[in-house]
Amino acid sequence: MSSNTADQPVCSAKGCRAAAVWVLAWNNPKLHTPDRRKTWLACDEHKDHLAQFLDLRDFLKDVVTLTDWQAAESRKGEAQAG
Ligand SMILES: [Zn+2]
Repeated sequence: MSSNTADQPVCSAKGCRAAAVWVLAWNNPKLHTPDRRKTWLACDEHKDHLAQFLDLRDFLKDVVTLTDWQAAESRKGEAQAG
């Protein structure tokens, strides 16, 4: 199996296939250690809805653009290399 399709991240909202623009970083203290981050991806339309869902449960830690998130992740990778 080979695929040349770019692996475009899509929104995590149910049924939504829109390209993700935002990353919602969250943590459920009952399931995760405090420094653990789960992430949801969101398009512009669903960002507020998903953020509110997490915020109501006190899970929401951070909302950043996908570009910023990927930049931070790649910086982290570089820091850990070697
Ligand atoms: Zn969406």
